[in-house]
Amino acid sequence: MADVIWCKKVVGGKPCNTVNYLDPYCFWNWEGKTNCAECGTVYYIYMIQGHMYRGPEEKPGEKPDMSPLYADHPLEGYTYYLPGVKGRTRPFECLPRHIYLGRADMVKFSIRGRPVRGWRPQPPSGGLAGQFPYKWDIKKLSPEVWAEYQEKKKKGEVKEW
Ligand SMILES: [Zn+2]
Repeated sequence: MADVIWCKKVVGGKPCNTVNYLDPYCFWNWEGKTNCAECGTVYYIYMIQGHMYRGPEEKPGEKPDMSPLYADHPLEGYTYYLPGVKGRTRPFECLPRHIYLGRADMVKFSIRGRPVRGWRPQPPSGGLAGQFPYKWDIKKLSPEVWAEYQEKKKKGEVKEW
């Protein structure tokens, strides 16, 4: 969890005492309004890198932008609301926000400028998982990476340490 909102709103003569869990995928860097899953109190929060920068501040009469993923009641035997309870918690869609989706960069060279093996495609002759156990004949197997390596050497971008 990035953080929680422990709701202390007094409803019907006793504090709500619901813990609303702010999951990191959605709330890590986020500004907006979220609701308490139990009493529906709307809180403004501003989170930066998982830290509560501002809030939670009550915003009576406003609508939440996004609900917490999960909530429970630690003082009442941990009764809970699972994800996807309408009007209380958000459905779990197993995906981070769109800005965190995409393809990983393929690294061909280490920080010292030496070729690494963790890129693709690797030739079928590499066998299972393209491991080339003791011999990585880069010149033969990946001529384009070899050429790039020679280029790097000429430019002095390859270091020992
Ligand atoms: Zn509440």
